[in-house]
Amino acid sequence: MMTPDALKSLIRTVPDFPEPGIQFRDITTLIGDGEGLAASVHHLAEMAAAIGAQKIAGMEARGFIFGAAVAVQLGVGFVPVRKPGKLPIKTIGVDYALEYGTDRLEMDPDAVGAGERVVIVDDLIATGGTALAATQLLRKAGADVSDAVFVIDLPDLGGAQKLRDAGVTVGALMQFDGD
Ligand code: AMP
Repeated sequence: MMTPDALKSLIRTVPDFPEPGIQFRDITTLIGDGEGLAASVHHLAEMAAAIGAQKIAGMEARGFIFGAAVAVQLGVGFVPVRKPGKLPIKTIGVDYALEYGTDRLEMDPDAVGAGERVVIVDDLIATGGTALAATQLLRKAGADVSDAVFVIDLPDLGGAQKLRDAGVTVGALMQFDGD
């Protein structure tokens, strides 16, 4: 089983994408490696199991890849947290600020039970805006959200701290310094 350190070497860093100054940490190369994908899912699932996850929630789109795989490994359900207008039912949503403008996440209000322990899974936490919005949304639906696990944490962008301030414990397989 590949260690988190070995997994880090499978991440491709692309400078200046999607805009100048951003170091894009690309998971395409990680998930394209069979052992790397399996080990990533294994390590995330171990963390989620230790937390006692009753359901896994993942954010569109890269959170679906890891989140659904973790849910299968644990034998629990998966909650898709979606971009606006995708679900065919009456949704609940949360708007959140981006650097320029706002974005929105939506979910099926019946996707979680009251007090159900839901662990958030995503590929990467940067500013934490997305994960914080997902936390608020899942809590609005009645879930107990106290943990989120990521493949990658960019600690210098402050997202993990933002989540901790909201009462969410953050786990990650690896960190990259800087932004
Ligand atoms: P944030 O809301 O700032 O924590 O970022 C949320 C999402 O944006 C993450 O789930 C990533 O998919 C993507 N993202 C942000 N920064 C980066 C980066 N430097 N490299 C790759 N993906 C990123």
